[in-house]
Amino acid sequence: MYHHIKKLMYTVRIGTPDPRFGNMLLEQFGGANGELAAALQYSIQGLNCEDPARKDLLMDIGTEELSHLEIVGTLARMHLKPMKTAREAAEADPLVAIAGGGGVTLCNSMGNAWTADYLKVTGELDVDLRSNIAAEARAKIVYERLINFCDDPGTKDALQFLMTREITHLKAFMAALESMGKDPLVIGLIQPTPGIVEQFYNDSTGEGDDGETDERGPWNEGDDIEFIEGPAQPIAAATEEEVTKEIHQAARRTSAKSSRTKSKRA
Ligand code: MN
Ligand code: MN
Repeated sequence: MYHHIKKLMYTVRIGTPDPRFGNMLLEQFGGANGELAAALQYSIQGLNCEDPARKDLLMDIGTEELSHLEIVGTLARMHLKPMKTAREAAEADPLVAIAGGGGVTLCNSMGNAWTADYLKVTGELDVDLRSNIAAEARAKIVYERLINFCDDPGTKDALQFLMTREITHLKAFMAALESMGKDPLVIGLIQPTPGIVEQFYNDSTGEGDDGETDERGPWNEGDDIEFIEGPAQPIAAATEEEVTKEIHQAARRTSAKSSRTKSKRA
């Protein structure tokens, strides 16, 4: 159930409206890393979530993001409003001015319509939490860029609030993922193929015009990594028996896991 209170989560005051900046703000209203995308991503993940504690987390943050949408929409509207009547302001964004009357719509700063394709919802809680950690990091950096391009103290203040909350969410999603106690390399149930999983292919080779060469680091060297000189060679496919065996083992792991969950609940 949703309930609206006729107050903003954070008070917004601006100086002189800046229609061009209002257009940039739309990125966080109807853009890929914006507040609507965040609100819906977490809330829809919450609907799919069978872990009551983490479902509560997803619904708490998803709902807060709706309040952020209201703040950023109000802020953008304040900056875009002069477009409705002033020709000079209208030139900052003819689409918003002519089609939208200086109001906010669910478009990004380039006028592209918001799309559900922005949402990352996999139905696998740990995988979803990783997407959310990345989403919060993206939202943080977009707010930072908006702050850097903004010269109005009141607008900056509201953006600073919104940016700060994304770090709070980042921390909460990280803690939720960590508290699941999962090995970060174990995703789902089917095991990766031994041998292949340890190989690092040096597929970018040669020397670049600016002296770029092959680099080594913890991602391609270490006891559990086999460094393979490129170009990568064709790999023999697993046999039908190997694939069938792995599928059967994964099915056994699934039924063992679900009977453990059932006995925990009983
Ligand atoms: Mn937010
Ligand atoms: Mn957030």
